[in-house]
Amino acid sequence: MFKEARTDAMFTWGMIGDITEGRPNLGSSMDVTVYRLMQFTLRDVIIQEFDPATADRLFYRAGELAGRELFRAAITQKTNFGAFVQELEDLLSTLKIGILRVEKSDLEKMEFTLTVAEDLDCSGLPVCDETICTYDEGFISGLLLEFSGKRVVVKEVDCWCSGDRVCRFEVRPAA
Ligand SMILES: [Zn+2]
Repeated sequence: MFKEARTDAMFTWGMIGDITEGRPNLGSSMDVTVYRLMQFTLRDVIIQEFDPATADRLFYRAGELAGRELFRAAITQKTNFGAFVQELEDLLSTLKIGILRVEKSDLEKMEFTLTVAEDLDCSGLPVCDETICTYDEGFISGLLLEFSGKRVVVKEVDCWCSGDRVCRFEVRPAA
């Protein structure tokens, strides 16, 4: 599962396993602290071993893969954009990833502005003049790629870390 060399993604939803069987006492929930501990230490080590640009690129790619696989595993609304967005808002809320809102959308141009409040990755972090939700950028691009079949570039323009109360993402078609 994790020991084979590969150049293509091999992730499947089944790798997540049967949590009900595996954690009969602890269940499927855990503290946000643990998620951030995992993500931020991994990112720190990638920066040390490589550089910040590589860490950003890897986190974006991993987020994109996650968005694509979550879409395949959990999204049923695959044709109507409004219905898709509603289902996605509900799903991200249920999974406690964040509270998604679509501020602007132009499906023809593939241009969107999205916000995520109470974001799992960053809400409550110290303000540091950085937008840090690179994983989320990729995550959103993966979801939109699966819905539309079109590649987009997602850039976080506001973040809790840059002093805002929500994370705001601009979506544009990939060049
Ligand atoms: Zn953010």
